[in-house]
Parts: sequence; structure tokens; C-alpha cells
Amino acid sequence: MPTFAPTATDTETHCPYCAFQCGIRLGTADDEVVVAGNPAFPVNKGALCIKGFTSGETLRHPDRLRTPLLRTSDGTLAPATWDEALDRIVAGVRATQESYGPHAVGVFGGGSLTNEKTYLLGKFARVALGTRNVDYNGRFCMSSAGGASIKAFGVDRGLPFPVEDIAKADVILLVGSNPAETMPPLMQYFGAQRAAGGTLIVVDPRRTLTAQSATMHLRLTPGSDAAVANGLLHLLLRDGTVDQAFLADRTEGFEELRGVIATYWPERTEKVTGIPEAELVKAARLLGAAKRPMVLTARGAEQQAQGVNNVLAFINLALALGRHGQPFAGFGTITGQGNGQGGREQGQKADQLPGYRRIDDPAARAHIASVWGIPEEEIPGPGRSAYELLDEMGREGGVRALFLMGSNPVVSAPRALHVEERLRALDLLVVTDFFLSETAALADVVLPSAQWAEEEGTMTNLEGRVILRRRAMDPPAGVRTDLEILMAVAERLGRGEHFAFANAEAVFEELRRATAGGVADYSGISYDRLEARQGMFWPCPTDDHDGTPRIFADHFATPSGRARFHAVRHESPAEEPDASYPLYLTTGRVMSQYQSGTQTRRVAQLARLTPEPLAEINPNTARRAGILDGALVTLTTRRGSSTARAKLTRDIREDTVFVPFHWGGTASINRLTNPALDPTSRMPEFKVCAVKIEPHSVRQGAKSA
Ligand code: SF4
Repeated sequence: MPTFAPTATDTETHCPYCAFQCGIRLGTADDEVVVAGNPAFPVNKGALCIKGFTSGETLRHPDRLRTPLLRTSDGTLAPATWDEALDRIVAGVRATQESYGPHAVGVFGGGSLTNEKTYLLGKFARVALGTRNVDYNGRFCMSSAGGASIKAFGVDRGLPFPVEDIAKADVILLVGSNPAETMPPLMQYFGAQRAAGGTLIVVDPRRTLTAQSATMHLRLTPGSDAAVANGLLHLLLRDGTVDQAFLADRTEGFEELRGVIATYWPERTEKVTGIPEAELVKAARLLGAAKRPMVLTARGAEQQAQGVNNVLAFINLALALGRHGQPFAGFGTITGQGNGQGGREQGQKADQLPGYRRIDDPAARAHIASVWGIPEEEIPGPGRSAYELLDEMGREGGVRALFLMGSNPVVSAPRALHVEERLRALDLLVVTDFFLSETAALADVVLPSAQWAEEEGTMTNLEGRVILRRRAMDPPAGVRTDLEILMAVAERLGRGEHFAFANAEAVFEELRRATAGGVADYSGISYDRLEARQGMFWPCPTDDHDGTPRIFADHFATPSGRARFHAVRHESPAEEPDASYPLYLTTGRVMSQYQSGTQTRRVAQLARLTPEPLAEINPNTARRAGILDGALVTLTTRRGSSTARAKLTRDIREDTVFVPFHWGGTASINRLTNPALDPTSRMPEFKVCAVKIEPHSVRQGAKSA
């Protein structure tokens, strides 16, 4: 890779990947697109991970799609003109809706889309297609955290405080998160916290890189998160270290919780969680003595069929410790996808309208109808959540045609083989992407779209900071932006008057009006204001408002203004190990890959670092199964089989196997994961299911292929 010294003419923009949205400077050297960290952006302060440094490689990649593709009568995908592709889409949509009704066409979005795309995709579904069935892959990411935050605080902003608060917390409980691998520049804040004498307690079944850097590591049994939280709260009560003044002044519902917490005495908690009583007692004492305690959760606790209850249990703990809403303390969740925050606010969810409004709220519907210029009754009601939408594709009552943007569910959805089968059952699958992802390869129509640095838009990072992602270069000839694609399809469907935007900024201007008065109020944020500063925190309700870095300083967004406790219990995972499937399977990410890997698997340096998934197995477990380090292993659950290379490590519990989910085909671990859904968030249980492992054989390889 050529060396790169950024100049004043290089473009300041943001990394295309995770929710940290690192500031970057993008330029060219030796005719290659190159990237450096932007020290002026106050979140990453110039630091980048390997994914960010190499992100320029995707822009001129030879695999880029440069022309629409249409499925031909012989079953192959062939190049076509934009007119041919758009005609095919419109004919397919009309035929489907005439035969099965408006809701038989579905829309599936993504948590990496800009706010403008998210907003326009939700509007496209409701106004251009008239369908209620729109949801997105963020349902698989942040929905449990969001559901719990709304229950407890009345609002869902992942971190309700700036990320820099992490550095000044004196004791942090970090649950189900491994930022040392997934978000390395975030570690500078944990490092500063430790350097200032702070304590970091990590809760994770694996001894991850993050856990290795911690003061304490609580190695819980997968799926026992709520029991850990309840057990720690039991000890706080026993030790008298609950913040009674905070409970009295700023919360409600604690008395209902007392009886539940009484049943989580240490011996029971140890039995359920596998964490020795002495470690629980030590952690509770550290937390109880903290002056600025902080509790952070992430996907480990959230991607479960009881994900909302898990998060509520940790919110209970954080509230009992007090100071939530004050600087350097409180509860937060660490968002994963690039626009995981904005993506869940602007209306691409089945039950939601822009501004984090509920689609079943008459006042919200009336407001959005007035912004969209349509009668309120034209806005459909709530539709199916992501997995339910995918599960019912091609069946009676399910969607028959799907418009998919910014997602690759063949790799990222649970029970992926089944999802692939349902995608094949559609009458029409339209995919917009810049590479031929595993899902795009199944499509009837593939539309080539512009990438991050080729278009303008806003993103909202893990702090709720809205940032401007600037355009640095033109897209390749033949490629259109997602916004242009949505406008073109809407035009051909006869709804063009509602989709006449000159550019992304014009979409944002309408988004501002749509969010005005909503929970996630962006109405005081403009491109001009974002140009002049390094992002603005929502809510920002007026042109002279400076945004809200800390949203709970005075009150919570509940009717009473108080945070609510919830009396939640630990429930067993939907599937526990048994004689046939004797181990826990848990999944996650690695440093050099991002989500379904559509981009990062194509970056040479990243592919060299992790060319395939490694199954982390304890040596004792491997010996019993006859598995050698570095050998291929077959993993099987009730939903299918997958192949990975064994990495024997004592950093994982003997009863658990970890496999990252970035690959497709027979290396897809999501072929195995369990689509049991959380009753509130509809989050699938990615993080826990029962698995068996065995040495891979050629016969198995043929069978699982
Ligand atoms: S992937 Fe995330 S942590 Fe890495 S450079 Fe990009 S935004 Fe930063």
C-alpha cells in the first residue's frame, strides 16, 4: 500500500464500516485511493482500525457492479440497461400487487444506509409501494437495546452521553462487547480510564482481547446475562451500596423488583452463570464503591430471545448504582452497524415513522402525512419484523416480491439456509448493491449502486452524533446512488411527485421537517451546520440549538420523567445443550472483517489476515471430539451444518464454541443459528444455541454443500 500524507485538498469524511464512524481523510497516492485517520474528529482522534485504513480498496475494486443485471430465461444474470431493469421491477411490482395486494411487496433495508436513504426507503415503502412490510437488518443488531431503553428511559439513544465519558468513569461493567477487536479505536477511552486508575470488569463467555485487558473477567455461561445482573444487584442490596437518594429522586418501580432480586442469592447465581461467588462478590463491591459507575452492554447480551430482559436487568443494575444522567456514569449500549443509530430512527422499521415515531400513533401519522403530502389513511399500519418477513417470503400471506437495499441476509440472517430457500421462492427479488453479494446472486434484478465515498449523506454514530459523510469522488460510469434508484422506481410507479429531490441534502431537509417534534428530533440540524462542526447530537429541535450530548441530565423521557425499573428474571435460552448437541454455540465478529463480509472479504489485506472462519474450541473439548488444532471441523445444529478451521484456545469455556459469522456458503455459521425471537424486539437468538462438533470429512463436506 502506498504511503499517504493527507493534504488540505483531501476529503474529510468517515469510515464506511462500524458505528464508531471514525473520521478519515481520503485522497490518492500512486493512483490508489488511500485513507488516513483524521485527528480533528474528536471521536477517533486520528486512530483507525485495519478495516478503516484499507477501506479505499473497495472503491475501485474489479468486482464492482457497473451495470444492472437481469435474470434471464436460462437462469443466469446478464447485463442490462437501466431502462430494462427499471421496467422489469415495475412490471413485477404491479403484477404482484394486482394478484396478492399491496402488502405482498416487501422492502428490506440496512443499518449501514445513510439517514437520507433510511428515510427515503421507509417513505418509498409506504408511499410508492403502499406496503406495510418494511424492515431491516438492524432488527438483528440493536433492536433489543432499543426496546429496553424505550421501556426504561422512554427514548433509545445507544450512548446517552459522549464517548469521552468512558475515560472518566471509575468502574465500568462491560457486557458482551469486544471493542478491542470490533472497534479498536474505542479502546483509547478504556485505556485512558485504566491509566487514570479506573477498573474495567468484562462479562463475556470468551477471554477476548478486551477481557484480557480488563481488571476482572466474569466468564458467564452463554445466555445467563440477566442472572449476572440480578445476582450483582442482589449483592449491592446485601452490602447496602444501592444509591437510595438516586432511586428516590429519579426512578420508579424499584420496590416491585426487590422480590425478584431476593431470589438471586450468590450460590444460585453462581450455579446459573458459572461465575464463582467470590468473583461476583468482588465485582459487586467494586461497582458499589464506585463514584462514577458505568454499565455498557452490546450484542453478547442483546442478541438473544430474552435480549430485552437482559438489557433491562443491566439497566436495573446501572440505575441502582445511581448517577445515570450525570457526567462519566450511567448506562449505555455500544451500537454495531455504521448507522445503527440513525438507521433505527428514520422509518425503515416495520412499526415506525421518521423521528422515532410509532406508526400506530395517530398524531405521528398525521404529522408525517402532512410532510409527505398524502392523506393519513394512506400510510399503512405496522408490518412484519425482519425475520418474520423473511420467513414468510413466497408463502400464503407473505411477501412475493422483495426490494432489498444494503443488506445480505443470506449470510447475516439466522437459519440462513432457510432464508436462502425463502428468497428463492419469491416471484421477484430486487437487490441494490455495489458487489454481487450472496443475496444479490439470487436476485432477478441487481442494481449497481454507489459507495460511501461517492455520495453525500449523514450518519448518526454510537453517541447519537449526526455527522456529514462527504462525497470524495464520482461513482463509476453506469452506477447510480441508492437515492437516485429509489426516485427512479418511484417515478415509474407513478409516485414521482413525492420523490423529486435534487440531492441528498434536499432529502435531509424533508427529514428535518419529518422529525420535528419527534423523539429523535433532527430539525435544528442542517448540512451547513454539520459542515461547520464535527457533528451534532440529537435531539436538536431548533436552528439555534447546539444539540444534546447528555440527554438524561435533568429528566428521563418517560411520562413521569423518571427512569423505570423492570422486575425481570433470567430465562433459559430457547435451546440448551443436550446429549445430541452438547455444546453452546456463540457467534460474533473478528477485527479484520465487517458484518456479512461483502466488502471486507474483497479487501486483499483483510482477506489475508482472516481468509476463513476459525472455530474457537477449548483444547479439552477438542480432545474429547478428536479435533486437532488447525483441522477442519464440522459444526451441526438442528438447522444445518457448517465448516470452520479449529483454533484451540483456553480463552473459551469448555462448554462453548465461538465462530465468526462473516462468511457465506458452507462457511456460514448463520446456517446454524436459532431464529427464536425476543417477544418485544423480535431479535433472533444469534448468541446461544446447541451445537455438536466433529472432525470434518469429505463425505460431510459433500453433504453440507
Ligand atoms: S471499522 Fe469502525 S473502528 Fe474501524 S476504522 Fe472504521 S469506523 Fe473506525
